[in-house]
Amino acid sequence: MSAARPVTLSDIRDAARRIAGRVSRTPLRLSPYLSEEFGHPVRLKLETMQDTGAFKLRGATNALLNLGKDARAHGVIAVSTGNHGRGVAYAARALGIKCVVYMSELVPAVKVDAIRKLGAEVVITGRSQDDAEHEAMARIEKDGLSYVHPFDDPHVIAGQGTIGIEILEDMPDATNVIVPLSGGGLFAGIATAVKTMKPDTRMAGITMENGAAMIESLNAGKIIPVDEVETLADSLGGGLGNTNAYTFEATRKLIDETLLLSEDDIATAMRTLFLQDRIVAEGGGAVGIGALLSGRLKLNPGPTAIVVSGCNVDMDRFRKIIA
Ligand SMILES: *Cc1c(COP(=O)(O)O)cnc(C)c1O
Repeated sequence: MSAARPVTLSDIRDAARRIAGRVSRTPLRLSPYLSEEFGHPVRLKLETMQDTGAFKLRGATNALLNLGKDARAHGVIAVSTGNHGRGVAYAARALGIKCVVYMSELVPAVKVDAIRKLGAEVVITGRSQDDAEHEAMARIEKDGLSYVHPFDDPHVIAGQGTIGIEILEDMPDATNVIVPLSGGGLFAGIATAVKTMKPDTRMAGITMENGAAMIESLNAGKIIPVDEVETLADSLGGGLGNTNAYTFEATRKLIDETLLLSEDDIATAMRTLFLQDRIVAEGGGAVGIGALLSGRLKLNPGPTAIVVSGCNVDMDRFRKIIA
């Protein structure tokens, strides 16, 4: 099997042109509090303000825009309980493409409703994400739908990478970029853009202690499965799959530093963001702030950008964390 061609800055620039006007160009807002704590300017890339409340809309929109006429006519399918399913459903509706989202029986009703409201056909099947994925593959065979992977897809990676271009446009002197890390589509895209445009920028990938699939795989030098454990950073859960073609290699090559956060670190990050900067972020979206606050990251002494990747948190849960 030949290795997949890695995503390049030119792919990311193409994605930026393609998705312009279909997703929001989010602000890179100064955090006076974090700047004071760190001793250098710290800016927050607020994907919490993206149209679906998370960056996944970028990759989903780019993936759908790259489908041929036939594929568009047949429709798309995603397996996701969260931000990816919502991003694909939203992009599909905007482009007039039929969308099917498979989820397991464990998914809470509010999430099902949100995706159904976007006009997607929701299929609830199986008792785990793996079961749902298995069923989805059978449906693809049957109906000729195009599968939109949540991270290991060159168009998805290029779409997420547009965040990296925007960060350097708004903060050309950035010396560090801190990114939440799960499957690695977000990290691989941003790091490809940033390291190509400004190679001396330090790239850190942050995740939670409970179920850190990419970091455990990087440490092992190969993809290893992890158990899914409950965590405040639910959007960072899940494994890399056993057919990973893009994100593991790209992340391995481009990452300068990784850090694992405890549940307390994540709660502190969510609280600090809200109380100091008035920003609501979900656990997975706030890990970059937790990493900076921990003082355990070895960063360049200079301007720093942190990606705050999403805001889709249950508000009852959020209130408890803030209280
Ligand atoms: C999906 C997601 C991530 C992780 O993205 P990967 O491409 O899987 O690494 C981080 N934050 C939020 C809010 C997400 O939805």
